[in-house]
Formats: sequence, C-alpha cells, structure tokens
Amino acid sequence: MSSLSTQVLVIGGGATGLGIAWDAALRGLKVVLIEQSDIGQGTSGRHHGLLHSGGRYALSDPVSARDCASENRILRKIAAHTIEDTGGIFVATPADPVDYPDRWFSACSHLNIPAEEISLSALLEREPLLNPRISRSFLVQDASIDSFDLAHSLVKGIQDHGGVVLLRHRLESVTRHQDCLVEAKISDLSNVESLSLSANLFINAAGPWAKTITNMAGAELPLALGKGTLVAMSHRLVNTVVNRCKPPSDGDIIVPVGTVSILGTTDVPVKEPTSLDIEPWEVDLLLAEGDLLLPGLRDSRPLRTWAGIRPLYRPVENGDAQTRNLLRAHVILDHEETDGLQCFISVIGGKLTTFRLMAEEAVDLICDKLEIDQKCSTASTPLPHETGQFYSLTSRLEKLEHQHSHAIADQVVCECELVMRGDIEFALEKTGSGTDLDDLRRDLRIGMGPCQAGFCAYRTYAISLEHSSSPPSLKGLHNFLYERWRGIRPVAWGSTLQQMEFSRRIYLDLLAAGPESENRS
Ligand SMILES: Cc1cc2nc3c(=O)[nH]c(=O)nc-3n(C[C@H](O)[C@H](O)[C@H](O)COP(=O)(O)OP(=O)(O)OC[C@H]3O[C@@H](n4cnc5c(N)ncnc54)[C@H](O)[C@@H]3O)c2cc1C
Repeated sequence: MSSLSTQVLVIGGGATGLGIAWDAALRGLKVVLIEQSDIGQGTSGRHHGLLHSGGRYALSDPVSARDCASENRILRKIAAHTIEDTGGIFVATPADPVDYPDRWFSACSHLNIPAEEISLSALLEREPLLNPRISRSFLVQDASIDSFDLAHSLVKGIQDHGGVVLLRHRLESVTRHQDCLVEAKISDLSNVESLSLSANLFINAAGPWAKTITNMAGAELPLALGKGTLVAMSHRLVNTVVNRCKPPSDGDIIVPVGTVSILGTTDVPVKEPTSLDIEPWEVDLLLAEGDLLLPGLRDSRPLRTWAGIRPLYRPVENGDAQTRNLLRAHVILDHEETDGLQCFISVIGGKLTTFRLMAEEAVDLICDKLEIDQKCSTASTPLPHETGQFYSLTSRLEKLEHQHSHAIADQVVCECELVMRGDIEFALEKTGSGTDLDDLRRDLRIGMGPCQAGFCAYRTYAISLEHSSSPPSLKGLHNFLYERWRGIRPVAWGSTLQQMEFSRRIYLDLLAAGPESENRS
C-alpha cells in the first residue's frame, strides 16, 4: 500500500469539492482531492445548467437568492468561458397566482436582484413560441452554465497551483485517533490498489453521498435527498431561460443549453444517492407544465431524460418537511462543534451557482483551524481555460468549415455533436488510463445529440481500443449504451421511438453488443 500526506484532503469531485480544492490551492495549502468516478459524475453533471439570477428563490429562500445574485456577477467574470448569457424571463401564465408577480418583484428589488418588467409584445418578439396568454413578464440575469467545462477549468486551476486531483479514487474508511481523524484508506479503482493518506483536515464534499462519509467517521449528518427529473427536448425551443412567476414547484423552468432545451424539474424524496429511476408521471408532468409556457411543446421531440439528487440539509426541527420545502442555502458543519470530532468538516447543500462562495467559507474555516492567515482570492482570479480543449459546438463548426484536410484526425466520429477523431484521441491522451466512454461523453458530448449514440459509440469504442494503454472493456460499451437507453426509454414514442429502434438494431442485431439474453443470432 502506498502512502501520501497532505494538509487538506477533499472527498468528492463535484462543484463543491473542486471549488474548495481550488480555493485552498490558491491560498498555498497542500491539497489532495479524491473522486470515486470522473469529475462531474454526481449531481454537478446532472442538473439544468442554470446560472441562477436569484429570482427563483426571491420569496421562498432569500438567503439563497442573495447568494445566487452575487455569485452570478462573480462567475460571469471569473468563468466567462463556461457561461452563455441567455438572459432569463419570469412569466405569469393564466394558471399562476395573480398576486405573486407584485410580491415577487418587490422581493427582487429588496434583495438587489435586477428585474425589469416588459410588455407582452416585447416578450413575444424575443421568444415567439411563448404562450400569448402570459399576463406579466420580467427580464432577469439568468444564464446557462456548462458544468463540465467549469469542472475541467477547476481541475486545471487546482493542478496549476500544486494541488493533486485523483480520479477513480474512493474513500473506503477513515482512522480516528482519539477525537481526531488522522488517516484515510483509499482504493484506486483503475488498478485495485490501495492508498493510505494522512491529512491535517478532512473535508466531506461528497454531495448526496455525504452521509456515508460522516457514518465512516462516526459523526452525524442530517441529510435529506431529493430526486429531480429533467427532460431534454431535441431543439432549442427558446433562447432565453424561461421561469414561471409562481412559488417554486414541479416543471416550472426551461433552460436552453447548447442545442437543446431542458425542462425541469420534479422533487421526489429518495433514500439513496443512486435512486435515479424516472417515473412516467414525472415526464408527463414536465411536458404538461412545459406546454403551458410553450403551447405545442408536447408535440416536439423529447430527446432523453435523466435525474439528479439534491443533497439538502434537514435540521431536526424540519424533520417532516418535504424536500421541495427545504432551504437551498448551503451549510458548513464543523464536526468538532456538532460531534466533538476534530479535523473534519462537511460542506453540503447550496447550488452549483454558489459553489465558489461555499468554498470561500469552507476554506476560511480550514485556515482558522490550521492557523494560516491567507485571504480568499477566487472572486477575482479568472479560472484557467484552454481554448477549444473540450466542448464548444460553435468552435467545432468553425473548424469544420475551414478545414480542407483529409487527415484521419479530421474524420467526424459523432455527427450530432461534430466530434472528430482527433478530439477523441486528444481527450484519451489527456485523461489517461481508465477513461471510459462515459468520461468521453462528459468531455466531448459524445452520444448526447439527437441520435443518442446511434453511430458514435462503437466508433469511439474502436478508437479507444487503438489508443489506450489499458483498453476499455466491452462492458464499458454495454454500460454506456444501457445508460443512453435508460434515458430514452421514458420518452420512447414518435420519432424518438423510431430512433431508438434504429439504434437497437445496430447494437443488438448487427453488433450483438447486448447482454447474452438480448442478442439475436
Ligand atoms: C435536478 C437538479 C437540478 C439542479 N439544477 C441546478 C441548476 O440549474 N443550477 C444550479 O446552480 N444548481 C442546480 N442544482 C444543484 C446543484 O447541481 C448541486 O447543488 C451541486 O451540483 C452539488 O454539487 P456537489 O459537489 O455538492 O455534489 P456532487 O456533484 O454530487 O459531487 C459529489 C461527488 O462526491 C463523490 N463521492 C461520493 N462518495 C465518494 C467517496 N467515498 N470517495 C470519493 N468520492 C466520492 C461522487 O462521486 C460525486 O462526484 C440542481 C440539482 C438537481 C438535483
């Protein structure tokens, strides 16, 4: 077993953990982050991609609203390359409470959240497909944010400042010495080796898995899990984020992201971080509510569904509250205060939009504990950005238009997302051993377009076989296709069903790439 030591060990490579490791590295701390899978595999890669203006929580959760508004302004400066400035609108449909817009508007003014009322004609000029029976509409500063790009930039920011990011490394157990955590036992899942890591401070940023980590340490964490289902429509039906002007509830938002529009979300209490199954009623409800905003939406083509799990702090006094009614504000728990356990901090809740602020507060506490006097600089330090490193559809289109070469690297492998062979080879080289098709999907959007991996999965798999020193297993291809199928199945009707049947024939009938029981001779 190899061993390492560090000042700060961060458990979890979602936005929260990456933000903490970046802030700590910028302040000169020695930091190691471990992630059991790939970055952005947890909730941070399973949401709408909305950079909140704060409007959504202006009445229900003013602390979160204020945090979102101020972080929105900061992220536009330090992570501009991950943000598309779509703008946002709050609209009141005939189904919404008539007194809400005035109360909401005055809460926004009170919280310093920019909001401006516009006329119906100005609204329809901007978004012609919206319901003409909308009675009130307000412009806000919502935007869409690419969490995979953000995660890549954070990893680079950590590494540029001497921090270490270990992917496919899972925390298995922790050792206590009296009232202090001293050592972590970690498995390297790519080669089944173990690592022992001693640290001065252990930071639990494991999102929906955070309770498993506190259980390992013998500490308590009042955590509730809320599953949210989302539906991606195959087109960009709106160019602006559209919110219903009513108390937050199911199916009240549409976010344009890249080439698609994302409808969200439900909020169903679940017990496990892996409870990602989608119920038919959730899809029906999201389409019905979406139809109120965009009449005819039901007849558009849904591309796929997925779900993410919200880790929500549920103090004892809120023991019976529904997950929808729990506050979205983040919590930093010093387990020395709550459990008498030194050297251990949990950071949970919040939004992707507020990850930087959560990290700032967590690292302030870390510095206090380590008696280090270093101020936070993340609010004014732009995140590193390697131009065109991974995903940007516009840059890919531009490249394709201007290239006249017939080089093998310029062959298009994924027609939907314009991923070229050279992009895949570059990503494989960059991400190293253990990379699987799902990691490439997060890096390059392989399989995320309208054909949902109909053609690109087997081509990408073949390229991985040629280029990787540890070739990916056929099981990896099966898992990848299964995940695509799981997301399409709840919306399998009309042209989506035709596409699904087409892909099924390629993979199961032609390539026999399914479980034995499903293969045909
Ligand atoms: C449906 C839905 C929609 C949302 N929409 C938005 C939105 O539009 N805008 C917004 O700002 N916020 C949104 N959010 C909230 C936001 O996504 C979350 O607040 C944020 O992503 C949480 O990040 P995290 O890092 O805390 O958790 P995660 O991203 O889940 O990261 C935790 C990580 O810990 C790792 N881990 C767990 N156990 C171990 C272990 N033993 N060893 C090593 N690693 C481990 C996991 O693999 C995981 O990657 C949404 C949430 C949901 C559920």
